[in-house]
Amino acid sequence: MKPPSWQTPWLDWALGRQQPTRRYVLLVLATLQLYAVTIGILLHSVHLGLLDQRMANRLILCGAITFVAVFTLVRSGWSLRLKDPVMAFPHALASNGICVLAFMQLGDHRSNVLIIISQTIVAAMFRLKPARVLLLGALTVGMLAMATIILTLYDPARYPVTKSWAILAVGGSALLMLSLVGKWISDIGVKLGRQTKELGDAVRTVEQMATTDMLTGLLNRRVVTDLAEAELKLMERTGAPMCVALIDLDHFKDINDRFGHHAGDTALRGFAQCTTPQLRQVDKLARWGGEEFLLLLPQLTQNEALTALERLRQTVETLVFKDHALMQLTFSVGIAQAQPGESLEHLVDRADQAVYEAKRQGRNRCVLAASPPARAEPTAETLA
Ligand code: GH3
Ligand code: MG
Ligand code: MG
Repeated sequence: MKPPSWQTPWLDWALGRQQPTRRYVLLVLATLQLYAVTIGILLHSVHLGLLDQRMANRLILCGAITFVAVFTLVRSGWSLRLKDPVMAFPHALASNGICVLAFMQLGDHRSNVLIIISQTIVAAMFRLKPARVLLLGALTVGMLAMATIILTLYDPARYPVTKSWAILAVGGSALLMLSLVGKWISDIGVKLGRQTKELGDAVRTVEQMATTDMLTGLLNRRVVTDLAEAELKLMERTGAPMCVALIDLDHFKDINDRFGHHAGDTALRGFAQCTTPQLRQVDKLARWGGEEFLLLLPQLTQNEALTALERLRQTVETLVFKDHALMQLTFSVGIAQAQPGESLEHLVDRADQAVYEAKRQGRNRCVLAASPPARAEPTAETLA
């Protein structure tokens, strides 16, 4: 089959083939648009004569080095060992650091840089933990304060103290406010993620409770009924044989009376655990109720099912319970092969009668159900 057009070898080479690396690399690549905006502003500043071309080149080079370093660490898979494999915090901090360098070069137009910084904080808030968003904002404002001190100390004529600190106060407080909002949004994201996980867990638990028997871990009666109905329909279409086996543990009341109800539960679990590995993948074993189990055996004739059940019977009769060495488990089973047009209710009923016969014959045995009386072909008279 031809791969989708976006799965080209060069794209695999750039993004990596493995998930989640591929997703992380894409997130790093998404930051390129911020780099593009920054480079645009720098080149425009050069064009307006606000920034020296060489200085602009240096800043662009710093940005390129930062991006390539982060990209390489993420693409190589090295960053997978970190808590944040996208490296959003160091990446955003380094980018803001470069912006602060630009801030120091742009003279009266330096406040434009604050817009780029705020975009970085906005982009980072969707990846960072709440406290990290706040830390990013605080460290960035700290770097801007350092830059302002340096500018006012070394070039007070171009950067008068009052005006410089006024720019920092307005810009810095706006960035801190943005970081606070970012923290708040990140908080909501964390909460939402937790609630989504809890909801997913709850749905899985409910699904499991609705389909499984809690004591034995086997399918429950409702599910096996649906599966059996589906198998009967399939049998009608394909003509393949299909059997059900109704298994009833022998003298189970006595086991409870002698060893206690808890031991009885252990016996039920033990039965499920020792029989399940012996079944084919298509076989479905379910707790039918109490100490009764229904085994669905698709694609088997009655005699083949008898062989399989005889093997299970021998396994169960030799089962040893660690805490109750004297407890012995056996079962009686009735096996019925579905007949064309037969309902599930009728099929299970025939298997039940065979169980009754097995009990009558002395228990711990497999009995084949009697075939249902052949259906009379409709005659002209009955049709009339
Ligand atoms: P038979 O050989 O004729 O089938 O005799 P039996 O004692 O197995 O059959 P009976 O129907 O008289 O008793 C079934 C017992 O199974 C009674 C009930 O307390 C016990 N039982 C049903 N469900 C559970 C369960 O979940 N845990 C335990 N420990 N016992 C159960
Ligand atoms: Mg019973
Ligand atoms: Mg029983």
